[in-house]
Amino acid sequence: MKAICFHQHGDARVLQLEELPAPSLRDGEVLVRTQAIGVNFIDIYFRRGVYPAKLPMVPGNEASGTVAEVGNAVTDFHQGDRVVFVMTSGSYAENVVVPASRLVRVPDAIDSKVAAAAMLQGLTAHYLTHGCFWVQKGNTVLVHAGAGGVGLLLIQICRMLKAKVITTVSSEEKARVAREAGADEVIVYTHEDFQQKVQQLTAGAGVDVVYDSVGKSTFEDSLKSLKTRGYLVLFGQSSGAVPPFDPQILNTRGSLFLTRPSLGHYTATRRELTERAEDLFRWIRDGSLKIQIYKEYPLRDARLAHEALESRQTVGKILLIP
Ligand code: NDP
Repeated sequence: MKAICFHQHGDARVLQLEELPAPSLRDGEVLVRTQAIGVNFIDIYFRRGVYPAKLPMVPGNEASGTVAEVGNAVTDFHQGDRVVFVMTSGSYAENVVVPASRLVRVPDAIDSKVAAAAMLQGLTAHYLTHGCFWVQKGNTVLVHAGAGGVGLLLIQICRMLKAKVITTVSSEEKARVAREAGADEVIVYTHEDFQQKVQQLTAGAGVDVVYDSVGKSTFEDSLKSLKTRGYLVLFGQSSGAVPPFDPQILNTRGSLFLTRPSLGHYTATRRELTERAEDLFRWIRDGSLKIQIYKEYPLRDARLAHEALESRQTVGKILLIP
């Protein structure tokens, strides 16, 4: 089968299309023939070596497709079922072995590309607003990188929950997209000081929660944007890792909370995974959650997809098509 593989860490040029042996199944596993593969920023962390990886590696953590074969002891899935999975590595491939416990059935009304585009970033936006911090009506939230994959979904879900949404983006074009997704206020943080603007927009009070996936370049000012007893949810590091910091700062800045969550810990049980996915599919079906696909690349062009994502050109989701 064809798959994208890298043998050393580096820039996107390390991603190569290769012919790999067909994978074999163990008990409880399912072979999925992929139809659409989600590209996520976490794939870039693994490629760069920011997160530990065993080399050579087939990157990718998300795809939709059909069940091609089931292993022993699999009773819930059958050949031909339409499925989607997240957080199972090796998805940049024509075939992927997935534990049945991590597979989710795609409802008839949902297109396979939409399912692949919605899953990882959608489940993330779901747990960030329904678990990590429970967004309530009347909250004011700050979402960084609001035109990104997770960002656009976070904006929409926070608006569904009747929170006021302030978001940051790097360009006027992205500002337009974030506004269309429902953001109340958009700050172009490459031109404006977002922390000062947040103080102005909240009459000096600050926000209840900051969803910060940018990390190094925003962390300090995200803390300063919070109200007393506010929550900083640091869930990514697109601009680089946050340096070590003194927890006493949380005290002096107003008894703040800081968390660094992972999707895996908020979909730890099958029940939690399927319940969050069911909410997502329901919102997509009833039109309250729009999935924006920025571009589809052939699998062999994974390098171009990574270059687009890390150069901040993209809005919404990138897919690879095998
Ligand atoms: P995005 O589509 O949001 O792309 C990243 C965005 O980050 C860019 O478009 C850009 O938006 C912004 N950014 C700011 N500084 C930089 C920089 N120096 N280099 C590149 N991008 C930068 O990606 P995803 O939706 O896939 O992921 C968003 C974040 O969420 C990532 O950090 C990812 O790791 C994290 N994540 C965390 C999860 C968790 O459970 N902890 C799960 C899923 C994702 P702009 O141009 O507007 O600044």
